[in-house]
Amino acid sequence: MTALHIDAIHKQFPGVKALNGIDLSVECGEFFGLLGPNGAGKSTLINIIAGLMSADSGTVSIMGHDVKKDFRQARKNLGIVPQELVFDPFLTVRESIRLQAGYYGVGKEGYDWIDEVIDALMLTDKANVNMRALSGGMKRRVLVAQALAHKPPVIVLDEPTAGVDVELRRSLWEFIKRLHGQGHTIILTTHYLEEAEALCDRIGIIDHGKLIALDTTDNLMASGIAAISRLRITIANSPAVLPETLKPLLAKREPNELLFEYDRSKHSVLDIIDALRAADIEIVDINTEHADLEDVFMSLTGRREP
Ligand code: ADP
Ligand code: MG
Repeated sequence: MTALHIDAIHKQFPGVKALNGIDLSVECGEFFGLLGPNGAGKSTLINIIAGLMSADSGTVSIMGHDVKKDFRQARKNLGIVPQELVFDPFLTVRESIRLQAGYYGVGKEGYDWIDEVIDALMLTDKANVNMRALSGGMKRRVLVAQALAHKPPVIVLDEPTAGVDVELRRSLWEFIKRLHGQGHTIILTTHYLEEAEALCDRIGIIDHGKLIALDTTDNLMASGIAAISRLRITIANSPAVLPETLKPLLAKREPNELLFEYDRSKHSVLDIIDALRAADIEIVDINTEHADLEDVFMSLTGRREP
């Protein structure tokens, strides 16, 4: 069963083609990551999935329900954690979540579940506090709780950890992983490469409104596009001049350390070491690192993530 099906979505804003033909399917039970830099089109796509914005062309369905033709059913199957923090400031935490559940026809019978969610998100102490009195991190937790209030099978989180502190990020990760373990389909947008790598089974990389890569996390990591390697060399003393051939590969230089970044298909560790030795530079230690998602992104787009 397909949890989310996106077919040929286009969206033009004045002066910006935000989405330029997105096709994507996410199967039930997947933990899918939509990764891309700021302005790539992630939130626009999420807003279209949520039915909050309409596409110029193309279709989206959730658990087989078209978001336009069958909005109520589609929306019932979907929980959205939006990127922006929007609330009624005069409601308490518990009221906000119950109200949200009410939109989907969930009444008193859902209150136990709501308290469970409040507890899991460590909001119990704040359950009766007004929204306006909460910190940004606490508001973020309430957004997550609201998205879960009607127990939707498909949960979409739009940059839930952007700008949150390390502790909250960790607890959100744990909570999202738990939801995934309980059978929910998770779709997460992020511009944190390490987050997509740590959490997602499969990743789509979006840039300028186009999917530029779509594969399992493992395959992306192992593929040729991740051919960039790093070589960190500790040296006994800082050389006055470096060999000319190495200058283009030098990413960082400190008194006792040289960091090289190079394409494995063009250079080898031995070339670099030989050139250093030929220049009488004494090598104390050598460390190599293979590509991470950041390198994958760079080799796909030619840009480094900000
Ligand atoms: P992301 O969530 O990946 O950071 P967005 O989907 O928010 O990216 O934005 C994609 C592009 O569309 C950006 O260039 C952004 O400035 C533009 N954009 C987003 N929303 C609007 C809007 N409501 N009106 C005009 N331009 C918009
Ligand atoms: Mg966004």
